[in-house]
Amino acid sequence: MKIQSVRGTHDLLPESVALWQKIEAEARGVFQLYGYEEVRTPILERSELFARSIGAESDIVQKEMYTFSDSKGNTICLRPEGTAPVVRAYLEHGLDHDGLIHKLYYIGPMFRHERPQKGRYRQFHQVGVEVLGSDHPALEAEVIEMLERFLHKLGVKGLRLLLNSVGCAHCRPAYVKVLQKELNKRQDELCPECQRRSKTNPLRVLDCKVPACQPVIDELPSILDYLCDNCRQHFEKLRSYLDLQEISYEVTPRLVRGLDYYVGTTFEMVSSDLGPTQNAVVGGGRYDGLSELLGGPPGKGFGFALGIERLVVLLEESLDLRRPRPDIFLAYLDEGALKESFGLAQELRHQGVFAYIDFQGRSLKAQMRLANRLESRFTCIIGEDEIQSGQFPLKRMEDGHQVTLDREAIASYVKEDGAATS
Ligand code: AMP
Repeated sequence: MKIQSVRGTHDLLPESVALWQKIEAEARGVFQLYGYEEVRTPILERSELFARSIGAESDIVQKEMYTFSDSKGNTICLRPEGTAPVVRAYLEHGLDHDGLIHKLYYIGPMFRHERPQKGRYRQFHQVGVEVLGSDHPALEAEVIEMLERFLHKLGVKGLRLLLNSVGCAHCRPAYVKVLQKELNKRQDELCPECQRRSKTNPLRVLDCKVPACQPVIDELPSILDYLCDNCRQHFEKLRSYLDLQEISYEVTPRLVRGLDYYVGTTFEMVSSDLGPTQNAVVGGGRYDGLSELLGGPPGKGFGFALGIERLVVLLEESLDLRRPRPDIFLAYLDEGALKESFGLAQELRHQGVFAYIDFQGRSLKAQMRLANRLESRFTCIIGEDEIQSGQFPLKRMEDGHQVTLDREAIASYVKEDGAATS
């Protein structure tokens, strides 16, 4: 029996990788314009990092982490998200010491043991941005504007920006109390999971997608009515900066997100093209206090993570990314001509030309069929005569136009023709 990939994980074959590379390149290009630098943290982390940051009560830590003990008895896991590792690295390497704002981004795999379904996998990939060292609402607006620019450059349409504030240590506890009181009254109407959550972490109830819970959730008090002056002013300023940039958003009081470290601003970008449940493409928010949870000094942080798989679903239909076409297919008549082609291909590649040779011993006719299939722009048939004369016949496949060239002239001819026609 053939061995299969692990459930919830996916191979990315070359035809899909082209789109992934485009997404990654656009992210790097756009983020750089705003002063962001890439950071790469390990895939393995201590499990404690996530228990302390996203919360021991969170679904991720409770149910979804790939955790194991190594031979020394350390509890290690595959990272389920990127923010806590970035903040850990930021503190571990003393990046907080220079008093500057650090603008960081990452691209890489995350792991959660969830029930696989469309848009939800066990290994998935995120593009994430973290800005550390400031709690200015204008910076939040800048991050959101950068995200919109990136998505716009990729041609993603129809995303809605949902915005909320989840309050802070001063104002949230009062809201949670009221919430708990309301939930206690309506236990019978809640799903079993929400009955449990309303005791352990009532905010999570707001996140529930079970249809039966929705009428209850709709009638729960809004966190926005309980914000302290600081949180209210911060939220208003953020909104005014977004208005200034003409970024539209929907204030969504039930958007509390699944991770414990959020304070103040939270946001999501959702698409109706992804169906009713796994419809969030981006999730983010402010996490002042995460630094302290990880043993560092008080710190400020804001960021987002974007799920690449979900973005790919939105882009797949609109983009036509075909595999690269060879510039020239060198067809050979015999072993001697293969040697000549081999050397010529090497020279052409050195000059930036994509040269293709068949290594499956095809007849000349079959080589030409292959050149057609690969949609090579030019073909060049090489035999004894060409080797002797040093003159090579180039055929442009599109219209059959033929020229005979010195060996040295081939690369520039192919490149100029490509530049003229593209
Ligand atoms: P989170 O880290 O949970 O805030 O998620 C941020 C984004 O990552 C989501 O909006 C999704 O696009 C993506 N994401 C989260 N979990 C998964 C998953 N299991 N499979 C695929 N994408 C995911």
